[in-house]
Amino acid sequence: MQAQTEGRREVNLALLLRTLRARGPLSRAQLAARSGLSKATVSPLLAALEHRGLVERAGTTTTQGRPGQLVRLRPGAVCGIGLDVHPGHLGATITDLTGAVHLRRRADCDTSVPEHALDRLADLTRRALEDVPDADWAGVTVAVPGRADRATGTATADRLRWREVAVVDGLAARTGLPLSRLDLDNEANLAACAEHDSDPVDHLVYLNGDRTVAAGVIVNGALARGADNHAGEVGHMVLDPLGSTSCACGRRGCWETQIGLDAFLHACAPRHDQVHDPELAPGERMTILRTRAERGDARTLDALHRTADALAAGLSVLAALLNPQKIVLGGYFAALQDWLVAPQRHGRTAITASTLGFTAGGKGAALAAVRRVLDDPTVVPVKASAPKTGGSHEGASA
Ligand SMILES: [Zn+2]
Repeated sequence: MQAQTEGRREVNLALLLRTLRARGPLSRAQLAARSGLSKATVSPLLAALEHRGLVERAGTTTTQGRPGQLVRLRPGAVCGIGLDVHPGHLGATITDLTGAVHLRRRADCDTSVPEHALDRLADLTRRALEDVPDADWAGVTVAVPGRADRATGTATADRLRWREVAVVDGLAARTGLPLSRLDLDNEANLAACAEHDSDPVDHLVYLNGDRTVAAGVIVNGALARGADNHAGEVGHMVLDPLGSTSCACGRRGCWETQIGLDAFLHACAPRHDQVHDPELAPGERMTILRTRAERGDARTLDALHRTADALAAGLSVLAALLNPQKIVLGGYFAALQDWLVAPQRHGRTAITASTLGFTAGGKGAALAAVRRVLDDPTVVPVKASAPKTGGSHEGASA
């Protein structure tokens, strides 16, 4: 019975933390009302969260003439590290428990050599840990543009030329971090979770706009992963059966050959144009193209209009299949949203541009790392300086 009681306590601690994250700051009475727990249950649980440095006092509120101490998540208390892998570069993002981004870093890297990429990912991890020396860190999650096998910690990605690369083991060996704190997932899945975190609708599709085209699909509030964890590989829907362009997957006619970033850039400009310069970040290249489109450059506008049409064709399949409330378009679609997002119409489905740009996967990865603590706050140790008794909130009368 003791174990069962402890289990319930962990569940209730997690419930309070999630309630504060979604609705805080709140008084003890408001927290009880919104979580469905009694005030008597809430007090010692709040003390336990405070002892772990996860919550802090945030002034007072007056409800029906009675003053109440407000509590909120402590900003910067726990950090998650998200790493994202792209052909030619890597990224690192740190978020805290509230979802606020503390740091974003980018590093050029020949990612086609897995050992090389893992060395650089380990460097980025070490630097990120040094950047938040005073925070507990929840873990590290790696976003990969391909198939992520979470059970074995391996990734396969055509665009990176990765075949079952042991990402989790490789990072653990290089950093000395415990396997329990390391994870990986598909980039589009993680980006969909980041979008869902800021707008938790029940049915959402995120479509990235990058060299690899993939969707993260949320159905009934949860990620749809599919039987083999490969759901959402929509870039390989054959939408252009007569198309002549080979896809990274080896077939022809995939949606990715029509709307992937490589196809788009080649439609926009000849080979030696600066928009193909790998030294330029994707965002900078999009700024150049936006300027050309605004000036009325015929080739750029033609590429935009053809891409918008090809995008619409695939979106109609996704909208018909999944009937989402919302489709969020990321990456270059969002960067050029006036031409690629604004014209899209699919019944009652809202089609919007992501505000997370090319780094949505990295932010989603950092949030996924933080989720370990939101699911079980007891993974964070009690602080040595914490009060010995659970009385720190007893004075709050509301
Ligand atoms: Zn393909």
